[in-house]
Amino acid sequence: MKIIEDKKFKDLTTFRIGGKIKYYVEVKSEGEIREMIRFAKTNNLPIFIVGDGSDFLASDRKYEGLVIKYTGDGLKFEVQDSEVFVTAGAGLNWDKLVEETVKRNLQGLECLSGVPGTAGAAPIQNMGAYGQEVADTFYKLEAYDIQNEEHKTFTKEDCKFGYRESVFKDKENWQKYLIISVTFKLSKDGKPNTSYESLKNSVGEGATLQEVRKAVLKTRKEKLEDPKEVGNAGSFFKNPVIDVDEKVRIEKEFADAKIFPFKNMYKVSAAWMIERAGWKGKSEDGVAVSPKHALILINKSGYASAEDVYKLSEMIIKDVSEKFGVKLEREVQLINF
Ligand SMILES: Cc1cc2nc3c(=O)[nH]c(=O)nc-3n(C[C@H](O)[C@H](O)[C@H](O)COP(=O)(O)OP(=O)(O)OC[C@H]3O[C@@H](n4cnc5c(N)ncnc54)[C@H](O)[C@@H]3O)c2cc1C
Repeated sequence: MKIIEDKKFKDLTTFRIGGKIKYYVEVKSEGEIREMIRFAKTNNLPIFIVGDGSDFLASDRKYEGLVIKYTGDGLKFEVQDSEVFVTAGAGLNWDKLVEETVKRNLQGLECLSGVPGTAGAAPIQNMGAYGQEVADTFYKLEAYDIQNEEHKTFTKEDCKFGYRESVFKDKENWQKYLIISVTFKLSKDGKPNTSYESLKNSVGEGATLQEVRKAVLKTRKEKLEDPKEVGNAGSFFKNPVIDVDEKVRIEKEFADAKIFPFKNMYKVSAAWMIERAGWKGKSEDGVAVSPKHALILINKSGYASAEDVYKLSEMIIKDVSEKFGVKLEREVQLINF
């Protein structure tokens, strides 16, 4: 374990943006976590936990604290009748976890193929894609409580999962728990989930888990921006949840509105509004709205600042609000702003 003093968020995030970090450390055991928490408390430093940095935008200014990355990446399978409990170390690459479960014919994570990031971060925003989300198969997680310096188990109920939300995003719990491992309950003989419209069309009835995984990976490659090629953090905005009155109002004005049922409310497509407002592909100070997908903001020049991204996101939020009367919320978290 080595404390590093010259790291930048730029080196730790898929946006490839962000200022200097006072102290950065990688830990791989509960003992090392404890030691670093003591270090932070003794030196009066705030703590930020990082995974693969694919879901936040860090500001350009120096972070005067300790950034901790947990790298434990074990993987364990426990069979119980027709179900299998799969436990992944928080540092395990998410897609590696999906690959290993699909390889063993375990159903439940196949639609989440190809999402960047670590297993430990997946519950934070209840990661979801193509009709599946973490909450569907989540069983429990083990974490270290930073404030009270003790081990804590979270059940599914404790996590309070919502649409790209969990208890860990609540203000009072923010950066209070370092997740060490996550356990999913997957089924041995379950049918793949092909409920999502575009998946249904590409794989058809009776598809295997491998086929669903392949189709998801192919669609993601075609539709999304690859952080290896251009800096980005996936969907920058959430799809706003609206009530029936708002749905009727928007549909009256825009015959082509993309609105879907969501629980007992509706979701209006943020990508549709941004594209309809003319933002798709538009650049501003080295940042752009992806020409492939209007929900994604990209570090087009490779040298964009966090301020540039923030400014463009504010312009989009204002314009969408004026044109559609709907307030866009960022899915990407703003760190050290
Ligand atoms: C191209 C692209 C496509 C994407 N597609 C999707 C998608 O389809 N669906 C989706 O839901 N998301 C998507 N995302 C967002 C992102 O991949 C996920 O949110 C992912 O779970 C983030 O993992 P990470 O390890 O990079 O987390 P980070 O970005 O490093 O961290 C995210 C949050 O988790 C916290 N955190 C990380 N590790 C731990 C830990 N061990 N303990 C406690 N807190 C922790 C951090 O403090 C932070 O608050 C996409 C991103 C990109 C770049």
